[in-house]
Parts: sequence; structure tokens; C-alpha cells
Amino acid sequence: MICEILSVGTELLMGQIANTDAQFIARRLNALGITMHRQTTVGDNPGRVKQALGEALSRADLVITTGGLGPTEDDLTKEMVAEYFGLPLEMHEESLARISEFFQSLNRPMRENNRKQALMPRGAVVMPNRKGTAPGCIVNQGGKIVAVLPGPPFELIDMYEQALEPYLLSLTDRVIASRFLHIVGVGESEVETRLKDLFHSDSPTLALYCKPGEVTARLTVMCGRDEDPMPLMAPMEAEIRRRMGDALYAEGFDASLPKEIVRRLTERGETLATAESLTGGMLASQIVDVPGASGVLVEGHVTYAVAAKARVLGVPQEILDTVGPVSEACARAMAEGARRISGATYALATTGVAGPGGGTEETPVGTVFVALASAHGETRVKRLALKSDRPRVRSMSCLHALNLLRLHLDELEK
Ligand code: ATP
Repeated sequence: MICEILSVGTELLMGQIANTDAQFIARRLNALGITMHRQTTVGDNPGRVKQALGEALSRADLVITTGGLGPTEDDLTKEMVAEYFGLPLEMHEESLARISEFFQSLNRPMRENNRKQALMPRGAVVMPNRKGTAPGCIVNQGGKIVAVLPGPPFELIDMYEQALEPYLLSLTDRVIASRFLHIVGVGESEVETRLKDLFHSDSPTLALYCKPGEVTARLTVMCGRDEDPMPLMAPMEAEIRRRMGDALYAEGFDASLPKEIVRRLTERGETLATAESLTGGMLASQIVDVPGASGVLVEGHVTYAVAAKARVLGVPQEILDTVGPVSEACARAMAEGARRISGATYALATTGVAGPGGGTEETPVGTVFVALASAHGETRVKRLALKSDRPRVRSMSCLHALNLLRLHLDELEK
């Protein structure tokens, strides 16, 4: 099945928002083995929406639209889909009742133009909207499928997961199964070199996806709906694990280092504190992003000024006066200080030069020290030389700090 995405929204064209809806859908369809050939963005203009829809349908079997389902005059995606297929719009009573309940629950009157959101092309499969007012729909006509999703990401994601993905899966008795293996601390080209021969395999197929500091290996097989795909993937997975060693830290579609840390510390009944300089709370925030963080994170300190490192964390003034705040000794003292004052099992610290200014010959921009103080052994400090811009230096520092803890937990559990 070949798919295209048609994103509707003038804000997208003007660069006011990023097209995260298309990114989400593309990733999920990829995991289902549906091939994406093109993505188009048009403004809220009925003529151009209809034209782009026609063009997309002339190439693809499945077109997924996002946005333009709101109550206002310029929200016309569904109308254009109906017009394209020559289908009348009919009131979908169940959706109308849902919309009216939605407004009742907010204690707000339902406006006349919200009724338009319950109009559906005749014969369409309606996808309820559990997070907002506008239901989506699927029109399947003459071998072409158009799925119409709302723009707001939290509405779109829920509708995709609850309704569209199950629908797409129901169209075939063969299913695509994927397994995602997450690798940290080894660059993309190194991973590619180590796994080179495995890319020739037809089943499972192997693909790599990269984001800063991390690589995800995706294994994909096609199998019968009731078949267990795991035995088909197990030999290749075992081989990848052997070649990547402890750089492979988790499996699963949505795995991440912060999630792994929270999961493992929760399992171990242990806790964490942070002491951050250049990451400015980002490390603690990444932990807090994970549901269940409250059982793990005791406290986070942002000690950005030199004096705060001494006052809050007890970093000895001598260290600050001699080797300075961007040093192994300071990172060590920050982590140990945070562990001491929090009583946490572990403390992670970051200090470094995020840039663009502030670099010296000894500590150029991108010099970062991450440290781990642990109840189970010596404090460890890692010096990083990151060659990147400020945001990337900061996010990579978090990644390395979390990985330091992850590797320590691996050792403890060996
Ligand atoms: P609404 O009922 O809120 O009007 P809608 O389905 O008509 O929903 P739009 O009006 O196109 O959707 O967009 C509503 C909001 O959703 C946008 O202001 C934007 O914040 C977000 N949004 C829309 N399209 C996208 C997209 N492709 N990626 C990320 N966010 C988007």
C-alpha cells in the first residue's frame, strides 16, 4: 500500500508550527510497513485542498489528511473529500450527540457551527474524537482510501491509535511486525559498519534511524496475523546484541534512556538526584517527563552560577578557584554534594561549556563533564568533547549523564 500525507493548515505553510502530525503518522505507518511516497502541505484554501487531494490520489492508494476539521468557515478538508468523491454530507447523529456532550462537560454552549463537525460523507467510517470535538472519517471508494484526521496533535494521535491503525490492520491478513533496538554512545556510521552484512537480509529487514547520540535498529518481518513474529526475528536480534554489546540499552517502539532509568530504578527501589549546570534542569525534566518519576527523582538542583555550586552543593571553594567549575573535580563534587544533601541512591551532575562563547584553550566549547555518585561504589566522571551547537551540547550532556547511570546499573546487575 502506497500512502501520502496531505497536511492542511496555513500555519504550517507560514512556518508558525512544525508538522509534527505528519512526523507521527509517517513513523507509525513505517512501523506497519506502509510505504510513504510523498507529503504535501497546503493552506486552508478549498481549491488547493481539493486539487492536492486529487493529485495525491492519482499516485497513492491511501491519503491521510490532517487539519481543517474545525468548526470555522475555513475548515474544509472533510467537505473537499466528500466533493472529490461526489458524496453528500449527512448528519452523523452519534457524533452530534458526542459533540453536544463534550460542550456540556465543559459547561459551555454548543454553537451552531459545531454541528457542521458532525456532518460526514455518506458511507464513511466515522472515527470518534475522544479528546476534542471534530470526529474524523475514512472514505474507502474504488480502491482508494482517504482518512481524515484533526490537526491538534493530541486529538490526532489518539484517533490514529484508537481507530485508524486498527482499520488499516484490518485490511490485510498479513501483518508487519517490527522490533526496535535502541543503541546509545556509538555513532551511526560505526553501527552501520558493525552490522553491514545484516542489511542484505530480506527477512527480517534491517533499517537504522538516528537522532543525536542514539541509533535505533528496526527489524521488520511480514507474517500471518496469528503468527508469532518473535522467532523470525530472534536470530538477527541475538546477532545485533552480540555485535553492539552494552551500547544496546533497550528494545521497544517508544523506549528512551530516561524511561529506562525510571523503569530500572523503580524496579530496584532506588532514587536519583541531579545537580546541573549547563543543562539547566533539562536532565531532571527528562526524568520528570516519564510517568512514575515521582518514585525515583528526589530533587534536582540547577547551580548555574559558580557561587551556587559552592553554596548549594558544597563544592569546595578551592576547586572552584583552582581548576574551576568546568572540571572533573567540580563535576565529582557536584554529584557527591547532590547525593549527600538529597539522600538519594545516585546523583548525576553536569558541568561544561555549552557555547557559543565561554570556551578557553583548556576547556573549549563543548567540553562537558558528567558525573555519577553512587551508593554502590566510587564516583565516576566522564569528560566529553562535543562538537555541536548550544542546544545539542546540552541535550547530549543529558544523554551521556543518563548513560553513565545506565552502564553502572548494568554492572551492578551482571
Ligand atoms: P480545530 O478544531 O482545533 O480547528 P482542526 O482539525 O481544524 O482543529 P487545524 O485548525 O488545522 O485543525 O489546526 C488546529 C491546531 O492544531 C493548529 O493551530 C496547530 O496547533 C495544530 N496542528 C494542526 N496541524 C498540525 C500539524 N500538521 N502538526 C502539528 N500540529 C498541528
